[in-house]
Amino acid sequence: MDNIVQLDTFRDLSERVGRFDVRGKRFLIPEMTPLGSYLMAGAFRAFGINAEIMETYTGLDLGKRYTSGKECFPCVVTLGDILYFMEQEKKTQGDTFDPENYVYFMPETSGPCRFGMYNKYHRIILDSLPGLHKLKITALSSDDAYNLQGVIAPERMRRFRKTAFFTVVVGDVLERLAWRIRPYEKTAGRTDAFFIQARDRLAASLERHALRDGFHPILRELDEIVRAAISIIDPSIPRKPLIGVVGEIYVRTHTKSNQDTIKILEQYGAEVVNASISEWINFTTYEQVRKAKKALRLHGRNGRVKKCGREFLRYLRYRCILSYQYMVQWKVYRLVRRHIDIMEDHTIGHLEQALKKNDVFSFVVGTEACLSIASSLIFAHHGYNGIVNVFPFTCMPSNLTASITKPLMAAASVPYIDVSYDGSYQPGREAALRTFMYQAQRHCNAHGKP
Ligand code: SF4
Repeated sequence: MDNIVQLDTFRDLSERVGRFDVRGKRFLIPEMTPLGSYLMAGAFRAFGINAEIMETYTGLDLGKRYTSGKECFPCVVTLGDILYFMEQEKKTQGDTFDPENYVYFMPETSGPCRFGMYNKYHRIILDSLPGLHKLKITALSSDDAYNLQGVIAPERMRRFRKTAFFTVVVGDVLERLAWRIRPYEKTAGRTDAFFIQARDRLAASLERHALRDGFHPILRELDEIVRAAISIIDPSIPRKPLIGVVGEIYVRTHTKSNQDTIKILEQYGAEVVNASISEWINFTTYEQVRKAKKALRLHGRNGRVKKCGREFLRYLRYRCILSYQYMVQWKVYRLVRRHIDIMEDHTIGHLEQALKKNDVFSFVVGTEACLSIASSLIFAHHGYNGIVNVFPFTCMPSNLTASITKPLMAAASVPYIDVSYDGSYQPGREAALRTFMYQAQRHCNAHGKP
């Protein structure tokens, strides 16, 4: 892989980054959440796409070799994942190895965040390595709420969109259940082992039922899993200080990148709730509703009737999608909450209201900072005992979050800490988290749990 072919470096970026027909290819997904990503691969397989999750973080050195240190950390980790995967495939397949048999999945979002540049940067690196210019990158964009046109057959698209969102919610619920149970487990390590099994069972169930039978059989299995999971809890252990985690979506959910922050917090006496993945999906849909509303007002003021009609239809479409997404979340959470109290998500409208009320940030600026700042305010309002902002070193929206949220939490006397990651190990980090947990315990003693 060291022989960089300079001539190929500046190929047309759009040529092999976009929406491609992935039938007959191996569809490679980078791991993000340790449970939800595998469910998503199951959902893709239900629709005939040969999806798999790549081994993660083992290729970090490769990712670092082809980056300068200025890129976002998730860009480095995912680049390492795909390069390592390709290297291993080449080793095992020898002369029969053909990069054209694979499609690499790397979604994007538009500015001001740099996530929109990952797949372009990965494309440049892949193009510079012998043969890897043939490896296509499938990129879905938050600009059109992750439209799948061209990737999934048109007649199955609607069904797939529903399945994908349902899968994200089930993944969120499974993770939330694990964080609710693990601090109270009777036997150390039992929760992790249980949830890996549960993940594989649900992924197989999605693969079997999602296309043909709908969601009921999957929900039945989830119900059985929840009932079994509850037996892991030792009821004699009192409830612990509750910590809310916000921050950049990849690093706060990718346990290897964040060096298991949640487990370290648990080790020092926390119960943790991390922000969900569906929150981000709902946010991108909500953004479409907001944009349509804005355009509708603008065209209305200028008397452009045709354009008004078009924007109104766009508004209605995304409003319906958002309502559908909330309804799916409500159904899945209700099923689990019949057995155990896991935290539900707030609606995005509620988060925007929290920002407006406090007049500290605006959805007009966009990025995850909207979600992280608003969630921190809501966590504090609900009496959480501490807030942790987890993010990649140099992450622009997360540094915004840090600069705005820290003084707000100090004023509200809620323990707060920023933890940034870039793959290096800092000896003082664990001590900082331990001190934070000491403050959270004191907060809990003084104010109780939410
Ligand atoms: S959220 Fe942060 S880490 Fe992610 S792309 Fe944007 S700047 Fe980079």
